[in-house]
Amino acid sequence: MSDTVTKDETAIEIIGEDRCAGCFGCYNSCPNDAIEMKYDEHSFYLPFINENCNRCGICQQHCPVIQDTENDDKSKEPVFYGGRSKDREIRMMSSSGGIFPELAKYILDQSGVVFGAGWDENFNLEHVKINDFYEIEKITGSKYVQSRIGKGYKKVLKELEEGKNVLFVGAPCQVAALNTFDDYEELLTIDLVCHGVPSQLLFDKYLEYKEKEYESDIDKIFFRDKTNGWEDFQMRIGFEDGSVYEKNHKLDPYFKAYLPNLCLRDSCYDCKFNCIPRPGDITLGDFWGEPPKEISTNEGVSVILANNRKGEQVLKELKNENQIEMKRTDYNTATVNNPRIDGGKFQIPNSRNDFLEELKTKDFESIKDKYIEIPNPLEFRLKKFVMSVLKSLKSNL
Ligand SMILES: Cc1cc2nc3c(=O)[nH]c(=O)nc-3n(C[C@H](O)[C@H](O)[C@H](O)COP(=O)(O)OP(=O)(O)OC[C@H]3O[C@@H](n4cnc5c(N)ncnc54)[C@H](O)[C@@H]3O)c2cc1C
Ligand code: SF4
Ligand code: SF4
Ligand code: SF4
Repeated sequence: MSDTVTKDETAIEIIGEDRCAGCFGCYNSCPNDAIEMKYDEHSFYLPFINENCNRCGICQQHCPVIQDTENDDKSKEPVFYGGRSKDREIRMMSSSGGIFPELAKYILDQSGVVFGAGWDENFNLEHVKINDFYEIEKITGSKYVQSRIGKGYKKVLKELEEGKNVLFVGAPCQVAALNTFDDYEELLTIDLVCHGVPSQLLFDKYLEYKEKEYESDIDKIFFRDKTNGWEDFQMRIGFEDGSVYEKNHKLDPYFKAYLPNLCLRDSCYDCKFNCIPRPGDITLGDFWGEPPKEISTNEGVSVILANNRKGEQVLKELKNENQIEMKRTDYNTATVNNPRIDGGKFQIPNSRNDFLEELKTKDFESIKDKYIEIPNPLEFRLKKFVMSVLKSLKSNL
């Protein structure tokens, strides 16, 4: 980590709003409470500096965009695995192979604590702490919005100072921000392969639209429901009156705005954190290429990178304890269809700025019709049928 502090400037002044990842690193480090994290005009978290700032420059040391957080122990040649939990229930509640909940259980069984992203009562996403595995569902599953870290890094450090084992899971920029603080042997970090985060406004307006359509308040949201399989995951929203919305991600308008990158944060298009060496001790994602045959299943397979000795040791223990199945693979196999494992850069769509502008004033329905391309459901089903026939013919050859 670089130690150079330039007095007189804050981190956000040095990097500018376009490069800011909204990671809350500076916010956790300021000794003068001079930073407020608020939404900007397009609903992306940004630090706003108030009159308490004495220009000490400390926040620069905890901004992962400025600091080189490439810890010496993070390998330029990680060990690649495909893996999954042996417990079907855990696989089904998770987004890929359920490796995260198994790692969480490992830490909680040692009286440790786990920090991950969970909903508050209004479906705002924030990093929270759990102490017991019975709370695991609060934080399992990917949520495709940016999580509010709050004073989360300070809370992690406090637990570590008290001698606790801690697992922290988050987007790579969040793990990189945590890495700018003191390192502890008792801290285990997981960074997620990260497609990026969209404007919070997209999500808020989408939920409003769904509540209007169903005339009921939302009760539960699951972005990665696997009822029709992991590859065909669907958005599932439960309402208070008992009704349920389920839609294949390739037909759901939220996913059809998010996955083609219509309104990601500026910093997500050319992300400096989604590359090898990765910031976490372990990296987790979906094995979207061809997973090792022995563990292949349509209930979800994780791509796993053991980035250092600590990560490798914990994964091997879980395997030896028969909690997970894990097969070694290589860089080329692991990165197929998954550009974000090592440096994928996304083009900014031409319509992005107009989309973000209109999002400020218009409702979801009108923006959807203008900007979001949703395939015809009949054609979609027909295409899927043809593909599945071709696939089974190929596997019988
Ligand atoms: C915004 C986002 C984008 C992603 N993009 C990709 C991608 O392009 N390619 C890929 O292979 N994998 C991607 N993933 C990772 C993947 O979806 C799974 O999270 C990962 O494989 C772990 O799954 P699991 O089955 O082990 O456990 P799960 O239980 O599914 O673990 C999910 C973990 O992520 C944490 N989490 C959920 N949402 C957020 C959030 N918004 N911010 C921070 N932490 C969060 C949860 O606390 C939990 O610990 C993304 C995840 C997120 C959150
Ligand atoms: S007081 Fe120091 S740490 Fe806080 S915002 Fe100002 S320069 Fe940054
Ligand atoms: S620390 Fe994070 S939130 Fe603060 S300026 Fe740097 S990137 Fe932005
Ligand atoms: S794409 Fe990069 S900058 Fe954007 S949320 Fe993910 S890790 Fe952070």
